[in-house]
Amino acid sequence: MDASEPERSETTDVGEMNVPVLTCRDVTELVTSYLEGHLSFWQRVRFRFDIGLCRDCRQYIRQVRRTIHLVGALPEEPVPDKVCQDLLERFRGMKKGS
Ligand SMILES: [Zn+2]
Repeated sequence: MDASEPERSETTDVGEMNVPVLTCRDVTELVTSYLEGHLSFWQRVRFRFDIGLCRDCRQYIRQVRRTIHLVGALPEEPVPDKVCQDLLERFRGMKKGS
């Protein structure tokens, strides 16, 4: 009798809880969808979090945005830059601690 392995330890059903962290490459691939509003809520949260932490990604997105604006691929709409700035400052505040 060898009952050292319980069969019920098979719980790989994490589902949506298991959202991978975005890499810079993911960001560059998702940026168009992001700007066009095709990302899901959680994708956007991840996306924003990543670009809030990564200067390279932010610069890249700014470039893409400018390009899109020049080409006119997206309808002209007010981009909430102030919201982004606000978020970034909060991130900085979190890093500094109290
Ligand atoms: Zn990045």
